[in-house]
Amino acid sequence: MKSIRSLLSVPSVASVLSVLSLLAVPALAADKKHDPSDHTHEKKTAGPNGGRLINTVTPRAEFFVTADRKVQITFLDAAGKAIAPAGQVVTVTSGERSAPKTLTFVKSGDTLLSVAALPAGNNLPTVVQIKADAAAKPITAKFNVDLVKCGECKLAEYACICAH
Ligand SMILES: [Zn+2]
Repeated sequence: MKSIRSLLSVPSVASVLSVLSLLAVPALAADKKHDPSDHTHEKKTAGPNGGRLINTVTPRAEFFVTADRKVQITFLDAAGKAIAPAGQVVTVTSGERSAPKTLTFVKSGDTLLSVAALPAGNNLPTVVQIKADAAAKPITAKFNVDLVKCGECKLAEYACICAH
């Protein structure tokens, strides 16, 4: 009798294990849904300085125009906290197509700050190119730097998080 019982227990242990592994798969999938970075497409959010988020680069970056019209690029972790640049090369081309101005950047604390200011004007067609390093292919973001404040969210229009 003893030998039969031990033979029977083998498949039952195996079936318990397979049930456990089936339960483990949906549990892991549910955990992944709580990753905050998955929510970035659902609702527009502003950067920590009130700038525009560029989500097409990893890590994502905030484009922010300072009070003296310089461009400040801040790289952000998944929680939206600033992380020091890791050798990224940023170029911003801004202004009327006939005479655009190209801005280059230097490290300033945990951000990259443009050497020069944006050209004059409050609605500037702008191209931002971000390379992970000097040899990488650039990721490009194009938008108008509209510095007029939005009446709803009080952010400048280039960083507006409203649905309009
Ligand atoms: Zn707005």
